[in-house]
Amino acid sequence: MQTEPAEARRPFQAQAEVAIADPERLIAQVFEHFAGHDAEIVPIERGSSAVFFLGEVSMQARADNIVMSVKADDETGLAFMKSLAAHHLIEFVQGERPRFAWTGDGVGLSQFPNFREMTVERVADMTPHMRRITLSGTDLGRYATHGPHLMLFVPPEDIARPEWPVPGEDGLPVWPAGDRRPQVRTYTVRSLDLDAGTIDVDFVVHGDHGVGSRWALNARPGDVIGVRGPTGRRRPEADWYWLVGDETALPVIARTLESLPASAKGVAIIEVADEGEQQPIRYDADIQLRWLHRNGAQAGTTALLVDAVHAVEMPPAGTRIHAMAGVEYTAFKAIRRYWRDELKLDRKDVLPVAYWRRGRAAGEAAPDDEDD
Ligand SMILES: Cc1cc2nc3c(=O)[nH]c(=O)nc-3n(C[C@H](O)[C@H](O)[C@H](O)COP(=O)(O)OP(=O)(O)OC[C@H]3O[C@@H](n4cnc5c(N)ncnc54)[C@H](O)[C@@H]3O)c2cc1C
Repeated sequence: MQTEPAEARRPFQAQAEVAIADPERLIAQVFEHFAGHDAEIVPIERGSSAVFFLGEVSMQARADNIVMSVKADDETGLAFMKSLAAHHLIEFVQGERPRFAWTGDGVGLSQFPNFREMTVERVADMTPHMRRITLSGTDLGRYATHGPHLMLFVPPEDIARPEWPVPGEDGLPVWPAGDRRPQVRTYTVRSLDLDAGTIDVDFVVHGDHGVGSRWALNARPGDVIGVRGPTGRRRPEADWYWLVGDETALPVIARTLESLPASAKGVAIIEVADEGEQQPIRYDADIQLRWLHRNGAQAGTTALLVDAVHAVEMPPAGTRIHAMAGVEYTAFKAIRRYWRDELKLDRKDVLPVAYWRRGRAAGEAAPDDEDD
């Protein structure tokens, strides 16, 4: 059978040349990192190529520079691949940040293709500590076909007209200066209504010490917020699902359960403060849903989820598994260790993620906190 050439499948392309000392060492470091993040690595002459879900990145060494090229199926994918390549290159360079400019498709865009300014339509309390905010905006089709998460850009309070980051020449965001800069937080699309042009986001309202939680507490119809997305992996096909989370992952677990066919089996374990924080979830799959209650303990301080994960009986060998966890950092580390090191589950079948970290604001977390 004749296969379509890769170039035809990925019609959007861009290139950049970056002046750099020891380019081969740097390329090796960047691609070793990509290999740990679900990319398929293909060696090329004096360099490597990495194939991701949204596109490809290649880096090739020359005497004193690296030639980078990125390819994707669409403008959004291309913008993502440019910033992925630029971000990782810059991260591994020691010393001064290299300056470079992409040529090819997508040059001169005044906004990231997957960025929207959205408006608060409705605010509703689902439980005492979970607030649903319905946001309206245009061109939301990608949320029906891609990953479940989004990045919210929370503008500073009392600013007359919010300002948003724009794409720089190197593909990375250029931020509004100083006190006009929005703060970024990751959330989940709990549900999507393409006809109405709205998405629902469920916020854990844990107090007014976090910009996301505070924004949700104060949100009124007509308020605007920046939204970039969708992000995250789509739900993989499996026969047995293992879904684990605290309140912050309740939206993604509920959405996953609702989307699974009746034939899917597995277990879902959700930790909440108490019975009042449980939410009804309607689903057809043969999945046992267990609610765990902290009963007065603070979020992120108990071993409830980790203990419950250890007590789960595994399906027979050979079953296709998908295991995900969206939990506080300490539980994340314990669950990741158990899945990878003790159960020896394949990396591609597990997605343990630190959704938040006790005592630290989201932007302050160390870069290896997440495993997505
Ligand atoms: C992929 C992904 C999807 C997510 N989806 C959702 C979602 O749909 N809904 C949702 O509510 N959250 C979700 N989260 C978690 C959310 O991003 C974090 O809780 C984030 O820290 C909230 O930002 P903040 O500005 O309110 O608090 P921050 O400014 O980040 O933190 C301020 C303080 O609040 C504490 N804190 C943060 N979150 C909590 C919490 N849940 N309970 C108690 N204390 C907390 C921090 O430890 C810190 O001390 C998701 C995270 C990821 C990575």
